[in-house]
Amino acid sequence: MTPATPDTLRCPACGFRIFNRRYPMCESCKLPLPPELVYSREQILAMQTQEALEAKARANAKRKRDGANSGDGGDIDFGSIGSDSSCGDGGGGGCGGGD
Ligand SMILES: [Zn+2]
Repeated sequence: MTPATPDTLRCPACGFRIFNRRYPMCESCKLPLPPELVYSREQILAMQTQEALEAKARANAKRKRDGANSGDGGDIDFGSIGSDSSCGDGGGGGCGGGD
């Protein structure tokens, strides 16, 4: 184990560890942190947008999964649909149009 990991950032003024890079000030000495140590407004905005999108996608995927489980597509009777139409029994030549 290394004593200092690259992602361990510290306030250059007091050495206090930076936990929240979205906060542009040192939480200990309240001095503004150099821009390379904190996220810019654009980065924070981009991250929030990304997080929102991911949360939405996760919620959608979960809903879809839950819906598929409770919906149970096995109820659809494809046999009755096939017998209802003129094609299928005729060997496929009569339906679909074209040649
Ligand atoms: Zn500080």
